[in-house]
Amino acid sequence: MILKNNYSLLNYNSFKIDVKAKEFVEVNSTDELKEICKINNRKEILFLGGGSNILFTKDFQGLIIHLNLKGKTIEKIDSNHSIISAYAGENWNKFVNYCLEKNLGGIENLSLIPGNVGSAPVQNIGAYGTELKDVFVSCEVFNQKDCTVKEYNLDDCCFDYRNSIFKTKKHLIIISLKLKLTNNDHYINSSYGGVNDELGRLGIKNPTIRDVSEAVINIRNRKLPDPKNIGNAGSFFKNPIVDLKKIEAIKKNFIDIPNFKVEENKFKIPAAWLIEKAGFKGKNFGKFGVHKSQSLVLVNYGNASGKDIYKLSLSIKEVVNRIFKINLETEVNIIL
Ligand SMILES: Cc1cc2nc3c(=O)[nH]c(=O)nc-3n(C[C@H](O)[C@H](O)[C@H](O)COP(=O)(O)OP(=O)(O)OC[C@H]3O[C@@H](n4cnc5c(N)ncnc54)[C@H](O)[C@@H]3O)c2cc1C
Repeated sequence: MILKNNYSLLNYNSFKIDVKAKEFVEVNSTDELKEICKINNRKEILFLGGGSNILFTKDFQGLIIHLNLKGKTIEKIDSNHSIISAYAGENWNKFVNYCLEKNLGGIENLSLIPGNVGSAPVQNIGAYGTELKDVFVSCEVFNQKDCTVKEYNLDDCCFDYRNSIFKTKKHLIIISLKLKLTNNDHYINSSYGGVNDELGRLGIKNPTIRDVSEAVINIRNRKLPDPKNIGNAGSFFKNPIVDLKKIEAIKKNFIDIPNFKVEENKFKIPAAWLIEKAGFKGKNFGKFGVHKSQSLVLVNYGNASGKDIYKLSLSIKEVVNRIFKINLETEVNIIL
């Protein structure tokens, strides 16, 4: 383990914000993680995976611990299912591809989500009708406060839409996770976000999990800016969930408001639609702006500061709130 000082985070955040960490260290094992946390237990510490869901608004004055623990194992539990374990530092998309190569189904809809395995439970990653919780068994968690390691099961993690216990309890660090995937008789979930249409375009009638993955990748490549070319962290805001009364109130001025029932008297409104109606879609402020075809995605066109992006997010929230009386919640982790 080498502790580095005044270390550039430019290649450690997908927003491509040029900030530094006062101290930075990469850990490759649970023992290293324990050791570094014991020595530095009074410092401000931030744990980092792939940096694809984070916005730094200034230099970080504490210690950044980059989690680089690697390894994965598969255990067949019966003819239909396998348990796959993977360490936090594995790249999520490579992990999905590995599972597809082994014909393990359940996470094909989560193809091409950037970031690492260890961060996946933090916001219960989700896309195209699948969430991590659907296949989650447990994770091994390091408690930074008392340096202990404990197994967290599905209930312990309190998963919800883009949320979990790890989003607020920042001292709980995921070391590895276990997922239950299918060996055969895969359930194909292709009814969301144009996956069926894309499969049709590809001429596929009886899709395999690999076909679904390909369709998802094609759609994502068309819709989302690649952080390699334009700095961004995916959806900046969550889709708000409101009650019927609220929908009826908004309908008085916006008859066409899109909404999807998620449970009794709870409706999800696409935040992208709200942002578009608030006039921000495609807004370009020079170094930064709102993506032209995906208004949920705030972008760094080059040399923007984290404060620029943060201030833009506040303006969006304010205007959306003024028009719709809806408080947009951020999905990205903002480091103030
Ligand atoms: C182009 C693009 C598309 C995206 N699409 C999606 C999508 O479809 N669905 C979706 O859900 N997300 C999406 N995201 C967001 C992001 O990729 C995911 O949230 C991903 O899981 C973040 O992983 P990371 O390793 O980069 O996390 P980081 O950005 O490194 O960290 C995110 C947060 O988790 C904490 N953290 C990191 N590792 C751990 C750990 N091991 N234990 C505890 N806390 C930890 C960090 O402190 C931070 O608060 C997208 C992002 C981009 C750039």
